[in-house]
Amino acid sequence: MRTIIDSHAHLGWDSFKEDRKEVIKRAYDDGVIQIVQAGVDLKSIPDQLALADENSHIYNGVGLHPHEAKVWDDDSAATLRTAAKHKSVVGVGECGLDFYYNHSDHDVQIEVFKKQADLAIELDLPIIIHTRDAWDETFAVLMERKGKLRGVFHCFTGGPEVLPAIRELDFYVSFSGIVTFPSAKDIQAAAALVPPDRILVETDCPYLAPKGRRGKRNEPSFIWLTVEFLAALRAVEIDDLARTTVDNARRLFSLPVPAAGFVG
Ligand SMILES: [Zn+2]
Ligand SMILES: [Zn+2]
Repeated sequence: MRTIIDSHAHLGWDSFKEDRKEVIKRAYDDGVIQIVQAGVDLKSIPDQLALADENSHIYNGVGLHPHEAKVWDDDSAATLRTAAKHKSVVGVGECGLDFYYNHSDHDVQIEVFKKQADLAIELDLPIIIHTRDAWDETFAVLMERKGKLRGVFHCFTGGPEVLPAIRELDFYVSFSGIVTFPSAKDIQAAAALVPPDRILVETDCPYLAPKGRRGKRNEPSFIWLTVEFLAALRAVEIDDLARTTVDNARRLFSLPVPAAGFVG
């Protein structure tokens, strides 16, 4: 059977309150054999870790989303350090800069992004980056740490022009359902150019359902629509792209290969 890793999902959110178990099972039955949940705040960490305890194929990023940057305080780094001891934690984030919504001041966002980037270096974990309308500022933070920090630009919404800097940083690029939208020409142009050993796929569910499910609640099993689209765009077989992205996600997040016969 074809298998895939959803490298960025939010399974703990209320959208999945009624049928979380079914969603996870449906994904697994559809070949989504590992899922990385991204963190957005600190208060949800216990729930994130608990879901991974119940489902050994679910992993976690822990971090503070740029929208929430204003709540960072003296205890936040310690909270993340403690969480990172849990075996499911494979990354720091999502964190970064969002100058589109501006839910936190730019200066505060940059400060909190730097703190989490340094924490990722300290913990030797990859960083999961959320960036919107803030490429220059994001690259400035990362270039200062070039060679010490590894990570992924999640839900990539840039164009080909930002790829040279990403390549210089040797970061991964993850595509969500957005790349399937007919209007996403720039993102598609970039998706054709990302090197095979640096491409990832994600749902970012419950948001951003791909074309074919657009407007619906997104869930990990819908990731195949994005994989199919990207395979056609890159003129490769779906199975090959799936395998490549699985290898890449395992390399970036140091995920184990599940034991043969493993079930959920
Ligand atoms: Zn994000
Ligand atoms: Zn996210």
